[in-house]
Amino acid sequence: MTNLKPVDVAIIGGGWSGLAMAKEITTRSGLNVVVLERGMPRKTSDYALGMDELDYAHRLRMMQNIADETITHRHSVRDVAAPVRQYGSFLPGTGVGGAGEHWNGAAFRFMPEMFTLRSHMNRKHGAAKLPADLDVQDWGVTYDELEPYYWYSEQMMGVSGKAGNLRGKILPGGNPFEAPRQNEYPTPPLKNSQAMDLFEAAAKRLGHHPYTSPAANLSQTYTNPDGVTRPACAYCGFCERFGCMVGAKSQPSNTLLPVLQRQKNFELRTGSWVRKIVHKDGRATGVQYVGANGEEFFQPAGLVVLASFTLNNVRLLALSKIGTQYDPSTRKGTLGRYLTHQVDSATRVFMDKPLNLFMGSGALAMRLPDFDGDRGLKPEEGLLRFGMLFMLAPGSRPIANFAALPQGAAPKNWGPEWKKAALQWADRVITIGLAGEHLSYRGNFMDLDPTYTDKFGDPLLRFTLNWTEHEHKQRDFAAKLAVPLGRAMGGKTDEYRNPRANYNVINYQTTHVQGGTSMGASPDMSVVNRYSQHWNMSNLFVIGASTFPQNPSHNPTLTVLAHTYFAADALIKRYLKNPGKLA
Ligand SMILES: Cc1cc2nc3c(=O)[nH]c(=O)nc-3n(C[C@H](O)[C@H](O)[C@H](O)COP(=O)(O)OP(=O)(O)OC[C@H]3O[C@@H](n4cnc5c(N)ncnc54)[C@H](O)[C@@H]3O)c2cc1C
Ligand code: SF4
Repeated sequence: MTNLKPVDVAIIGGGWSGLAMAKEITTRSGLNVVVLERGMPRKTSDYALGMDELDYAHRLRMMQNIADETITHRHSVRDVAAPVRQYGSFLPGTGVGGAGEHWNGAAFRFMPEMFTLRSHMNRKHGAAKLPADLDVQDWGVTYDELEPYYWYSEQMMGVSGKAGNLRGKILPGGNPFEAPRQNEYPTPPLKNSQAMDLFEAAAKRLGHHPYTSPAANLSQTYTNPDGVTRPACAYCGFCERFGCMVGAKSQPSNTLLPVLQRQKNFELRTGSWVRKIVHKDGRATGVQYVGANGEEFFQPAGLVVLASFTLNNVRLLALSKIGTQYDPSTRKGTLGRYLTHQVDSATRVFMDKPLNLFMGSGALAMRLPDFDGDRGLKPEEGLLRFGMLFMLAPGSRPIANFAALPQGAAPKNWGPEWKKAALQWADRVITIGLAGEHLSYRGNFMDLDPTYTDKFGDPLLRFTLNWTEHEHKQRDFAAKLAVPLGRAMGGKTDEYRNPRANYNVINYQTTHVQGGTSMGASPDMSVVNRYSQHWNMSNLFVIGASTFPQNPSHNPTLTVLAHTYFAADALIKRYLKNPGKLA
């Protein structure tokens, strides 16, 4: 192993969280920072050619190669986990920018109660009435504390949207139930699609409050406070699972990298696969990694930031033997605890005319906030929390969207009648989905697999995860709301997923996998403090959605960024002046 020259800060992972932290440290302190990214370099011009649906969207060109590393999964501790050999339910990224290159761009703030969910639920239901295996926690940080950092993140990306609550004043066009914002969005909302207009009109007729989602896909040319200018979205529809060819979708490569590349104290080392955080006497001393040519290095560092997404944030801490593994039988230990994903559902609506669905943008959507959190839920639904229904207009691409047929439209899945029906229904099928809150439970967690290893022989991460009756009921309720909506739009509806199925690693849901290195107010219940600093190792910070103790319904990345900036502020203003515990 080659020992390298020490650096001040080593950051593991070059996605949104790692590069955002790198930008704050390099531009606001004199420290030198190296970002170690296992994947390859990327830039906007890489995406200008060859937006091939088969290559990017189906063969997952930009995602982690599961021949190198995957996870194993089992539904409960009574089962034996098997490796996931075909990605589906989530799609971890790799390469510069991480999954932030091929994300959709939905850029939500969480509601205030989501940061204090345990207290909120105790107040609302009484602690004794909550299910015994419910594991939700308060975060140790509040919405009001994060509000300025949300705004900082929105400005950096140029989020397009309309405020629904500006400093307490409810405004038309936005989400009337959102928490107060201090500023209007940097750019106006994207343009609605035809189908969104139909959904909006139908939802309003049914008494709901639909609004156009905030999107990190620019509605107009925008220059951010760092002086980075990007053009407006062309509604090309090759957005989710692709990098944006014009740079309209905010990606780390087109927002943060241009600033970082001007910094002399910044180095991005690609092809660097970190295997371990090295530590001694309660302090991180650096990281051990394998370079692109297979050579092993030790990079000494004064400070280590772990920003390698939920899966590897948990796995690298476990491989490095930092912290105590959670054990569901005793409820002791914190590493790997609070694993959550997101509850989805899909009701298809078949319309009688073409809708030009091929035009769209990754995060373009109409959302229904009326039942988010516990708003509007009646006791007979049997639900503690719900989420938001939405109608996404990301652009229907030819392979993924061909031959979505109503049940019984063709006798077989092939042949002339099937072809005729496929053409008849092309461009007429829309989906009403659910972004449902996923609560954390005692039995869902991550640890190291005892059997299977990655390409280096290191144990894979094991998921123990299944849906509970609560998630099944969330899906029942989603269908109960979506079917009348689809009918009010003038369509015929059906549901194409079994609402009571077990957690399935094959069907894509979202890449909003959270928990495992949760933040909190005490080391008994969490891995990091509210500043993302490891409780046991003050020169180790862990950032990203692995620090969320449960999954709020909204997409996580804007909160990942806001919390990264909150942590960066404490690190730069307080830790660097007086290294030690921040909480
Ligand atoms: C198809 C898709 C659509 C999405 N849409 C949305 C959306 O609309 N809204 C939203 O909020 N979120 C969305 N997400 C989720 C979003 O992309 C993530 O929340 C976000 O990218 C997380 O940023 P991160 O920096 O924490 O992790 P990542 O983006 O995953 O970056 C982590 C980086 O760490 C690197 N890494 C991992 N392990 C190692 C190691 N051992 N050594 C060195 N490097 C390592 C990886 O290669 C990666 O580049 C979407 C994700 C996908 C895949
Ligand atoms: S839909 Fe818009 S933001 Fe998305 S890739 Fe196309 S031009 Fe870029």
